[in-house]
Amino acid sequence: MSTPETRHRRKETIPVLLAEDHMTSQLKVWCPFCVQFHFHGARGGEGHRVAHCDPDSGSPFRDTGYIIRKTIPRREDPYTRIRRRLDTDNEKKPQPKARQA
Ligand SMILES: [Zn+2]
Repeated sequence: MSTPETRHRRKETIPVLLAEDHMTSQLKVWCPFCVQFHFHGARGGEGHRVAHCDPDSGSPFRDTGYIIRKTIPRREDPYTRIRRRLDTDNEKKPQPKARQA
C-alpha cells in the first residue's frame, strides 16, 4: 500500500519551483521554507537540483531536492492581445453607414 512516505519518494512528487533569470548566468527560485531566493547556475538549465536550503530551515526540499522550471517571460496579458485583435478585425469590416435621422 502506498503511504505518504513512499509517495514522497516517487519521482513525480519532487516539488517544482519556478525560476527567473538572474543576471546572465543564474536562475533564482523563491524558497518558501528559507524565505529567500536560492541561486543556481543557468547553464544547467531546468531540471532536478539539490536544494540550497539551510539545514535549520526544516525545508523538506533537503530530502527531495526540487525541479526548477523557468517562468514564461511576461509579455502582455492575453486579454490585451485579444482586445487588440478584435479592434483590428472591426477596423477591417466595412463600417455601417450612419442612418439619416
Ligand atoms: Zn530553501
